[in-house]
Amino acid sequence: LELPIHEAVLGRAAEFGEAPARIDGLDGTTLSYEQVDRFHRRLAAALAEAGVRKGDVLALHSPNTVAFPTAFYAATRAGAAVTTVHPLATAEEFATQLRDSGARWIVTVSPLLDTARAAAERAGGVREIFVCDSAPGHRSLIDMLAGTAPEPVVDLDPAEDLAALPYSSGTTGTPKGVMLTHRSIATNLVQLEPLVPTGPGERILAVLPFFHIYGLTALMNAPLRRGATVVVLPRFTLDTFLAAIEKHRITSLYVAPPIVLALAKHPAVAQYDLASLRHVISAAAPLDAVTAAACSRRLGLPPVGQAYGMTELSPGTHLVPLDATDPPPGTVGKLIPSTEMRIVSLDDPGKDLGPGERGEILIRGPQVMKGYLGRPEDTAALVDAQGWLHTGDVGHVDPEGWLYVVDRVKELIKYKGFQVAPAELEALLLIHPGIADAAVTGTPDAEGNEIPHAHVVRQPGAEQLTETEVMLHVAERVAPYKRVRRVTFVDRVPRAASGKILRRELREHP
Ligand code: ATP
Ligand code: MG
Repeated sequence: LELPIHEAVLGRAAEFGEAPARIDGLDGTTLSYEQVDRFHRRLAAALAEAGVRKGDVLALHSPNTVAFPTAFYAATRAGAAVTTVHPLATAEEFATQLRDSGARWIVTVSPLLDTARAAAERAGGVREIFVCDSAPGHRSLIDMLAGTAPEPVVDLDPAEDLAALPYSSGTTGTPKGVMLTHRSIATNLVQLEPLVPTGPGERILAVLPFFHIYGLTALMNAPLRRGATVVVLPRFTLDTFLAAIEKHRITSLYVAPPIVLALAKHPAVAQYDLASLRHVISAAAPLDAVTAAACSRRLGLPPVGQAYGMTELSPGTHLVPLDATDPPPGTVGKLIPSTEMRIVSLDDPGKDLGPGERGEILIRGPQVMKGYLGRPEDTAALVDAQGWLHTGDVGHVDPEGWLYVVDRVKELIKYKGFQVAPAELEALLLIHPGIADAAVTGTPDAEGNEIPHAHVVRQPGAEQLTETEVMLHVAERVAPYKRVRRVTFVDRVPRAASGKILRRELREHP
């Protein structure tokens, strides 16, 4: 799609007019399509007047709020690329991102202002810090909306100019700046659209962070384009989340596996009226078929749909169509239009595999990133000369083209020459009624060999669950080489904001 992202998402704003675009899930503040469109334009003008120019990088540092998307699209309208910053980043982490991205502007919120100031001081190069709400000594976006400057005329080339510069999650290494052009993001929206046949009247709860590529696209871009209403929550607690579904009559949830797990298993779910829900979609990490089925059965919904993608893919390549009647359990979906996929052997990367055979997933298409900012070697290591992006994920397809993601290549545990996928063992552990949550890592045993090690959270009331019981539960269901050989009970499984298990942290504190 040859349009800048702000035009791609708000092209039909006039048609949607008074329909609510965004609602603050806590205080109920509501913005109509007409208002958000006007605010984006006014704020773009004010940012341009403040000096924001085409090619600048603006760091957006905020939890989910109704203002977040306004700041984002106003910045792109003024010609800037937005680098989204984790609201819990330390000043040091934020400074690293500022330096790496070369950001000249920051938009933050008053509770995070001290961190933003400290980061700007360390990094240097930041010209101004704006706040979404208000804080002494800083220009407020609310006040800037009252400005009268003319809208900037910015000549953007959607194929070349960057709209977003998200940092990859850093689950497996150093976060890298991912250069996404207007075209790659807008094209991915259009590619996914036919599989999500909804529109005005749909009410989506935005609890996953906008700063992560999944929230940025599934909760911010896509709903605006189709005239849906997004109810925004700044942070996740199970009770505020469930209460918001009930109060705002939410119809669609785009979540990550830990929330599906809570919906499937947590006792609190029974205390809320969730009858408005129509769809639950999960992405960002492996979701096991049993948990997915338990969730849809408990809520009386069609099967939980999955999507697959990564930051470097703007982000989607696979999705279970919302109206698919019988998607096979565990699938992450079918390949979206104008995208190619190969599955290649892990031992012999030149060799293409057929249906049912596990190998690395390779993707080629218009949604592939422009590159990692300032890291040509890392870019070349990910995207080969023929344009194939090597995802680092292991998967297989069935004869009908449904894709299954097994786990990351890097996470596979090498046990006595065999490969064991942690996600597969986690799925089995979660079947146990006494287990609330689980993560599996490879831990060296006394001889230095990697063994599957389960970190298990007991379900309330299952305090008597023993290590032996956990090991037997898995042993009954898998080939001997896949058995869990060590169990540690933990209070919680560490996860990233996108729901991914932080196995690194578990390995550091075994
Ligand atoms: P980094 O690359 O910095 O280590 P990251 O890979 O966690 O971080 P993201 O781009 O947020 O950063 O995540 C993409 C990854 O998430 C994919 O490569 C895949 O491993 C995983 N993933 C996404 N969707 C799914 C899914 N439906 N099922 C299983 N895994 C998924
Ligand atoms: Mg990655």
